[in-house]
Amino acid sequence: MGAQVRILRLNKSGLPLAWLSREQAATLYVRDRVLWSIGDQQFTMRGGLNHLGERSCLHLAPIIASDGDSKSLPFTPLLDNRLLFRRDGHRCMYCGYQFNDCKLTRDHIIPKVQGGADCWSNVVAACQRCNHHKGGRTPEQAGMELLAIPFEPNLFEFMYLANRQILGDQMEYLQARFSGQRSWQAA
Ligand SMILES: [Zn+2]
Repeated sequence: MGAQVRILRLNKSGLPLAWLSREQAATLYVRDRVLWSIGDQQFTMRGGLNHLGERSCLHLAPIIASDGDSKSLPFTPLLDNRLLFRRDGHRCMYCGYQFNDCKLTRDHIIPKVQGGADCWSNVVAACQRCNHHKGGRTPEQAGMELLAIPFEPNLFEFMYLANRQILGDQMEYLQARFSGQRSWQAA
């Protein structure tokens, strides 16, 4: 497994808290804070030598639940261009073409100058050309059509957007809890 692979940490109710590095996950195991785990793919981590000269070995599951550090709900997903562009499949939501992230912009559907909010449900990925053409107008005023309805990701969708290297067990766990507002392609 690649170095980028991360372990999904849940609280004891099964809500995702964070993507952990293997080292961070190992720390929870060592401190005996892992309550239960899900998934077959096991990461093996070699530790140091104990006083008998034996090397310790930890087996980490792809999804672990731990006590404590429960986040306060309701969850408000941070609006971030990297995640926004991923939500929209790296596609301009006006012309439909795919672009590299550096060529995409955050378009406010109801423009800020008209009182539009900077929130997930009022923003889409747009190429520079479409964004420039639209200017300070709504899609209707500009005669442009939105290709998909923007929405705020739920906690599970947010965790999906935040990690590009999701393992099968992790994807299955998250996907079962998606809001169903959009079908996601693994990207
Ligand atoms: Zn465009």
